[in-house]
Amino acid sequence: MQTEEYIRAGKIASEVRERVRDKNWIGKTVYEICEEVEGEIKKRGAKCAFPVNTSINEIAAHYTAEPNDPITIKDTDLVKIDLGVQINGYIADTAVTVCYDAQFDGLVQSAEEALANAMSMIKTGVKASDIGRTIETTIKKTGFKPIANLSGHSLDQYTIHAGRSIPNIWSIGGFSLSENSAYACEPFVTTNDGGGFVRNGQTKNIFALNSRKKTKNEEADRLLDFIWNNFNMLPFALRWIVNDWEEKQAKDLLNFLIKKKAVQAYPVLIEVNEQKVAQAEHTFIPNEDGATVTTRIQ
Ligand code: MN
Ligand code: MN
Repeated sequence: MQTEEYIRAGKIASEVRERVRDKNWIGKTVYEICEEVEGEIKKRGAKCAFPVNTSINEIAAHYTAEPNDPITIKDTDLVKIDLGVQINGYIADTAVTVCYDAQFDGLVQSAEEALANAMSMIKTGVKASDIGRTIETTIKKTGFKPIANLSGHSLDQYTIHAGRSIPNIWSIGGFSLSENSAYACEPFVTTNDGGGFVRNGQTKNIFALNSRKKTKNEEADRLLDFIWNNFNMLPFALRWIVNDWEEKQAKDLLNFLIKKKAVQAYPVLIEVNEQKVAQAEHTFIPNEDGATVTTRIQ
């Protein structure tokens, strides 16, 4: 556990997230948002732990901009901006939902309130299933539905999903929080017309290394080395390789590496009834009295 690096990453992530929250993104493209937010992370001397996610409306998670992606934020959109900061592989994972239409404020507030209630009960030994119960109860009390098949997760060096899940609903069994671990908690909320589940969509624009085994294709192996050297096992986007490879070639090489199972591609996650989804997220390290919420505003 490198507590100091987790805290430094968290401070940067919280500063960048609050800038994202306060800014009016209407009329901006998702490409502009991703580039600007990633720039804010790098400007503060850290690296991105994953491509900034800009998941709009019924897309709950895992959408990042394509190179020059023209999708533009409208005043009725609900946009989950999920960002990750890493220092030596120690990660801060945090998200905010921005919306400019008052009719969706309740949905956003519900996710924020569920997260706040979850954070206030954290300490060493608390059961993940009890956190899930608090999140579910809070969301239902505000008149909405949690997304049951999305959850928070333990973190480890260069590893975003380190094996433990923090559910957004009550569930049987599960583990207890350890003070030697960092975790992310991320309630996702949809309306009562939503199914309360996500499904995989067709679009896949976030990738991660699976294996460093050579492919016998020289150029593909060069890209494999580039990915390992720059992103380790953490997720990346096509945007992050088109400075070094021409876009068409980069796409072909990526598809080749996916076919060889050297790289995996993550599909976007869409609410099953195509209802709008809001999200809030913090990273924290439990202790005997409570928790260090690394991504809380200082
Ligand atoms: Mn996140
Ligand atoms: Mn997360």
